[in-house]
Amino acid sequence: MTVALPRPRTAELGTDDLRELALDAGRDLEGALPHDVLRWAWATFGSKFCVTSSMGDAVLATLASDVLPAAIDVVFLDTGYHFVQTLQTRDRVARTLNVNVVTVKPALSVADQNEKYGQSLYARDPDACCAMRKVAPLNSALDPYLAWGAGLRRDESPSRALSPVVGWDTKRAKVKVNPLACWTADDVAAYVAERDVIVNPLVAQGFPSIGCAPCTQRVERGQDVRSGRWAGREKTECGLHL
Ligand code: SF4
Repeated sequence: MTVALPRPRTAELGTDDLRELALDAGRDLEGALPHDVLRWAWATFGSKFCVTSSMGDAVLATLASDVLPAAIDVVFLDTGYHFVQTLQTRDRVARTLNVNVVTVKPALSVADQNEKYGQSLYARDPDACCAMRKVAPLNSALDPYLAWGAGLRRDESPSRALSPVVGWDTKRAKVKVNPLACWTADDVAAYVAERDVIVNPLVAQGFPSIGCAPCTQRVERGQDVRSGRWAGREKTECGLHL
């Protein structure tokens, strides 16, 4: 039976109230199961809450599809540089899960970017490329929402080790929800096996973290899972989660 939820009243809250709500929830939900974090976010924000996915796997989308009473928006940034397997994973998620996949594109096509900034900007200035192809499109895509969720986990990298379960996204003035923050790689693997979650086939081919094709390399077993991203550079994040 689907339980009717009270109409979320957060749309009436100002920025300071939302920030306080986020920080309180981060304390209250620390250690909660991802399922319960998602339920809280939906009960609090309703359709003003979305999740994002890079389509490395469908763990967060599957959890949302299973536990929420209605289809949630799953925002996917189509940078124009994805592996074909990533786009196929996106299409499988849209076809098989009870979610609305929202594909977001940058203002410039790859061809237009090449014409304006020269070929292979990702190799010369990856921060500028990420800013145009990921950060700006996400910022625009998140406009209609009060809260957004991502699949960050604390065990993925030092830069993610302090990710709260619920926090405040200062740059965007939105509530940021990380339902998987406390899960380990083993927790994810167990959930994938138990629930038969869709996983990008590149993961089994040595790509445990998948971004744009020009900036993602295969990693050896036992290496840092994110070491194939912008390999050989200082850069470790695209700027979406900073
Ligand atoms: S990951 Fe690489 S190709 Fe993708 S937006 Fe960033 S710099 Fe550009």
